[in-house]
Amino acid sequence: MGKVQCPFCGDAGDVHEIVYGMPGPDFDFEKYEVGGCIVFDEQPDFRCRVCDWVGFRKPLKRRTK
Ligand SMILES: [Zn+2]
Repeated sequence: MGKVQCPFCGDAGDVHEIVYGMPGPDFDFEKYEVGGCIVFDEQPDFRCRVCDWVGFRKPLKRRTK
C-alpha cells in the first residue's frame, strides 16, 4: 500500500491508518494510529498527524458495500 495523501493539508508523509481494537505488544505506533476498542459503523480509516484530519478509505479504495 502506497502513501496516503491528506485531502485537507496535502501532506503525504504523516497520514496513518487507524487500527481498532487492543494494540498488541508488537504494535507499530509509528506506523498506525490507535482507534480504540469501540467498533461502530463508518468509522474513519485514516488520521493525519499534521492537521488531525480523519477520514475514510472509500475515496482511495472502494468497499464492497
Ligand atoms: Zn493533514
